[in-house]
Amino acid sequence: MDRDGSGVSALLGLDGFVVRAQLLEETTGEWWLAVETTQERAWCPSCGVRAVGHGRRRVVVRDLPIADRPVVLVWAKRLWRCAEPACPAGTWSEECDEIAPRAVLTERARAEICRRVGPGEQSVARAARGFGVSWHAAMAAVRDHGRPRVDHLARLGAPRAVGLDETSFLAATLEHPTLLVTGIVDLDVGRLIDVLPARSATAVTGWLASKPTPWLAGIRHVVIDPYQPYATAVAKGLPAARLVVDHFHVIRLANTALDEVRRRTQQATTGHRGRKADPLYRIRRRLLAGHERLDPAGFARVLAWLDAGDPEGEVGAAYLAKELLRDSYLVANALEARRRLVVLYDYCAASDVPELVRLARTIARWETPILRWHHTRLTNATTEGTNLIVKNIKRLGFGFRNFDNYRLRLLLRCGAPWQHRPVASIRPCQPRISA
Ligand SMILES: [Zn+2]
Repeated sequence: MDRDGSGVSALLGLDGFVVRAQLLEETTGEWWLAVETTQERAWCPSCGVRAVGHGRRRVVVRDLPIADRPVVLVWAKRLWRCAEPACPAGTWSEECDEIAPRAVLTERARAEICRRVGPGEQSVARAARGFGVSWHAAMAAVRDHGRPRVDHLARLGAPRAVGLDETSFLAATLEHPTLLVTGIVDLDVGRLIDVLPARSATAVTGWLASKPTPWLAGIRHVVIDPYQPYATAVAKGLPAARLVVDHFHVIRLANTALDEVRRRTQQATTGHRGRKADPLYRIRRRLLAGHERLDPAGFARVLAWLDAGDPEGEVGAAYLAKELLRDSYLVANALEARRRLVVLYDYCAASDVPELVRLARTIARWETPILRWHHTRLTNATTEGTNLIVKNIKRLGFGFRNFDNYRLRLLLRCGAPWQHRPVASIRPCQPRISA
């Protein structure tokens, strides 16, 4: 190694350390720096007598890159011995906050890996490669530096409205059914607050119970799917908050009923599941589209195929019920919307179609939180948080089996407080090296 120190020490910028020698490893492009602490004296932690040197031990760790060049520190770690023969302290080695015992990375390099994987959106594998460490070492860095950020209370913000939304996390396999997760979103700013590993009342209740009372008290509205366990959990954990049932999920109830009626009619009239030439199968998508999106010719085709494939008029009735429900969202105030829902209830009852009777019952049961949309206009749709979950599931999908890692990475990406400045601003200058 070349003897060249002080300039590189400044460049390294590691408090309490000086560079004694440096070497550019040609094959790997790594910059190897021999470092040691500037502390020349030590005292026995047990008896306070001044310690004597007991040799050194070599510790190799990877540090932040300098000018995109990977940096390896070779730390000649001092060993000390108590000069007092009767003292039980014996020998010990020096310690430093930046390099933990048995570490393969400096703490600031570990923080940087966490930043790259979190807001930097790199994969753990890529961050690991960038520092020449294993996937596990990189993931441990993400965990150690990420968890305090994610657990930081400031990350909760101060939402007045939150949304609970279910998302599938892992598709069903032979070993387990589809795993569902609950995303909790700050609807004021559209940010994911947390992800829970279940879609259950217990998961939500437990999560709410772990939050500070003043924070909970600030939440005025909770937007949910029409899913009873969510409602139960909110009633228990946030008794002062008001439920709003998500607009999209309400319409989906009607679409589901319509699909069920169509499939049942298909089976009853043809004796088989929908095929390409079957009238009801042809119009299955058009039935679900909003009526206003069909031009007169398109609607005429729907009517013609209903004539051909829906002898009892039940599919047509379900289509109308769906449109009646959608109508309730077209009016400005909740009172008028309620009137339209009553029209829907009457219509469904008179239709004598079991799926529609059930639909009306469900809507009636959720009526108050459904109509609250008219006061609040709150919805879970198109929030950054839910989109992020969906995007991530698509990308990471089946391979991403560890829920804790999944949650951590998701939350680091969307809104964990990030005070660390990026590497570029820590080291603005190019190294002036003449190796
Ligand atoms: Zn001692």
